[in-house]
Amino acid sequence: MNSRLKTFFKQKINLILDCFLPKFKIEDHINLLSQKDIFWDQIVWESLFKGIFFMKLAVYGKGGIGKSTTSCNISIALARRGKKVLQIGCDPKHDSTFTLTGFLIPTIIDTLQAKDYHYEDVWPEDVIYQGYGQVDSVEAGGPPAGAGCGGYVVGETVKLLKELNAFYEYDVILFDVLGDVVCGGFAAPLNYADYCLIVTDNGFDALFAANRIVASVREKSKTHPLRLAGLIGNRTAKRDLIDKYVEVCPMPVLEVLPLIEDIRVSRVKGKTVFEMAESEPTLTYICDFYLNIADQLLSQPEGVIPNELEDRELFTLLSTFYLTGSPKLESEAENSTKKPNTTNLTNDLDFLIL
Ligand code: ADP
Ligand code: MG
Repeated sequence: MNSRLKTFFKQKINLILDCFLPKFKIEDHINLLSQKDIFWDQIVWESLFKGIFFMKLAVYGKGGIGKSTTSCNISIALARRGKKVLQIGCDPKHDSTFTLTGFLIPTIIDTLQAKDYHYEDVWPEDVIYQGYGQVDSVEAGGPPAGAGCGGYVVGETVKLLKELNAFYEYDVILFDVLGDVVCGGFAAPLNYADYCLIVTDNGFDALFAANRIVASVREKSKTHPLRLAGLIGNRTAKRDLIDKYVEVCPMPVLEVLPLIEDIRVSRVKGKTVFEMAESEPTLTYICDFYLNIADQLLSQPEGVIPNELEDRELFTLLSTFYLTGSPKLESEAENSTKKPNTTNLTNDLDFLIL
């Protein structure tokens, strides 16, 4: 792109960002535009031609924490609010969209392999499946075990969706991503996202994973207008450890969902809670959790660029909290001894920094 054209686009983009995207600082965009030509195409298209609303979300969290369950229900909640939604499963487990479609759909990588990577032979209906509540579903698939890279898979998925003219067809694209190890590959969806959401429970392992994801968001936000929308507590009645973490590493907590047997059952049945609630209205209260998250996202929150804790700092913080910080633990300890109450430690913490 020549420099006159760049300047022209820059002016237009500034105007549009100014009007429609107040959530990001205009200077962020200008800095990025002047530094990183690589983002030009993306930002030009997304800002100029897509129009007012195009939000990309990346949902991260420790394996098994409930990312896919949460993602599917948030996708439907967003669709219920009138948005056209695409959910892209980026976990090699490729079961992200199972409760939307009711079955394990073919992955992009499998489809591309079957077509010998001839993109022109792939049709949208080969890879995009409409699920419950009009939510479209795609599974990126995984790299060959022990070889390849998750980032490559995500890159190929986005490339193919763009080739199919599908990427800009949606109001919201939600990437559901594994977050135990946020290597460059698994962090790749953050390159496309406006907001990251982290699913965690009230335990050490999930918060440790969350802290690593926080570090990735901070890193990616240097080159991309990415924000952390916040944490979603899941499968936990308590939130004291989550609160302790956000006290030291400030970020919003969008919602905290308890462990609800009906959510587990919905997944086994291959349905979302929204679909189950159609025949069982008593489940409507669960949908409200997800609708609340969707409403917060649709308000295009400020979000944060967080600063992760050092590993040792995090270990110490959580250990100290278990020993002294929890009012419940203290009161439980009151009748016995004032010594550190290691007997009350839950399975969430199987080590201590003393
Ligand atoms: P992930 O995508 O993070 O690997 P899943 O969404 O597959 O995790 O969820 C793992 C398991 O936890 C599933 O059996 C799911 O039904 C269950 N689950 C998720 N959230 C809840 C919840 N709030 N209450 C009860 N079970 C849940
Ligand atoms: Mg999953």
